[in-house]
Amino acid sequence: MSEQNTIVLPRIRTQSLTQEVTSDLMSKIRHGVYKPGEKLPTEPKVMAEQGVSRTVVREAMSRLQAAGFVETRHGVGTFVLPPPVPTVPLLDHMTVVTIRDVLAMLELRISLETEAAGLAALRRTDGQLELMKRAIDAFEEGVNRGESSVDADFQFHLQIALATDNKYFEDFYRHLGTTTIPRTRLDTSRFSAEPGQSYLYRTNREHEYILDAITRKDPQAASAGMRMHLSNSSERLKHASEAANLQGEAKDAANKADLARS
Ligand SMILES: [Zn+2]
Repeated sequence: MSEQNTIVLPRIRTQSLTQEVTSDLMSKIRHGVYKPGEKLPTEPKVMAEQGVSRTVVREAMSRLQAAGFVETRHGVGTFVLPPPVPTVPLLDHMTVVTIRDVLAMLELRISLETEAAGLAALRRTDGQLELMKRAIDAFEEGVNRGESSVDADFQFHLQIALATDNKYFEDFYRHLGTTTIPRTRLDTSRFSAEPGQSYLYRTNREHEYILDAITRKDPQAASAGMRMHLSNSSERLKHASEAANLQGEAKDAANKADLARS
């Protein structure tokens, strides 16, 4: 194709050609055909390869540069830049492992405590109700003071285990201890869309919902409330974990590109 023919093409055609060439080069950079630090083929070479004019190639290069894919060094050539560093901080490997472990723990808790809450609604004594209520109050006061209220949270769930009147629920819960509470192992506020302590207040509203159902002797509502309460924590962490995995893959790709360069 001669350059003259391409130049007289309508503007829209030139724009779509530019876009095609830009996309093609971006794709080759993304897939490592052109690696970070490498020089892109010269203008005449790209013109020949793609069958386009110098104008199209120059425009494509300037779009690539604007998008941070390449850098033109005058008189030397156009070089591929390393992929940008993700702006969201990566979760470190240990945190990701802990998230998986906490998710597994929540899965177990959902199965056991959903049942425990239902049994507690049927079997609780007034004294046990009072202790659940105290745990909720202590939770609220703790959060008001800026604390994480882990012990009060544990107490609330332990009282439900006690109210099942089945000692194995209690044994199990005491055996696991406060490690059952995700925020003893992770800074869970990092994984909440809500600012600061507000997710803890919401957590305690969920506790109140469960307490209401147990007070009314409504096992279905108590079970559903407990499932919702524990699922909310689980969902939040799952999202964080998935985001971390995606970012981890991007980082791996960047590391491989770095290795390929060195
Ligand atoms: Zn709780």
